[in-house]
Amino acid sequence: MTLRPKKMQLLQWFPDAVVSTRASGAEQALYLTFDDGPNPSHTPALLELLGRHGVKATFFLIGREAERYPQLVERIVEEGHVLGNHSYSHPMFDALTLTEQWIEVERTDQVLSNFDGRTHHGFRPPRGVFSLLLTLRFAFSRRKLSYWSYDTLDYQGREPDELAARLRASPPRAGDVMLMHDDSDCSLRMLEQLIPEWKQHGFTFRSLPA
Ligand SMILES: [Zn+2]
Repeated sequence: MTLRPKKMQLLQWFPDAVVSTRASGAEQALYLTFDDGPNPSHTPALLELLGRHGVKATFFLIGREAERYPQLVERIVEEGHVLGNHSYSHPMFDALTLTEQWIEVERTDQVLSNFDGRTHHGFRPPRGVFSLLLTLRFAFSRRKLSYWSYDTLDYQGREPDELAARLRASPPRAGDVMLMHDDSDCSLRMLEQLIPEWKQHGFTFRSLPA
């Protein structure tokens, strides 16, 4: 089980203006990111935890779910977190044409702009699947694919205690963008343990630049 997969190393060779994997490490910043929400069963408790610790994060939302749970999206924005685009319906991107992929991106930007007033949002493709063509389409539009540099593996159905132990053994570094999800309580249960420890180690927590 590796928390820094080879693919991430590959992605780091793209110009940062096209594909970002890490962010500024100033002030020992870590960037918590949550994919696949908003989720009425899990997002509220996570927001409470983040609020209690004064942690700002980034939520890569599925457009269809944002439409379904608008009050949750409003709360995410009101509490100072940043919205990211995680497609409209979370399809396998390699099963879609480039046009279909682009529609998924733009439709979600429109949904999210109703909440935060921004026309564009950093885009993270479902399951991290992307093609060179899509990357070029983003570059052509002067837009950015937003990846991660640290995969917490919170989607593998493992026990949060086991995952937290793995993260302690292979700790994040300043500037790491950390992949998590808010469609289960795994990230919440890991972070209840880890946020206080990371704070003790001098880390701060920021949203990705909008
Ligand atoms: Zn996803």
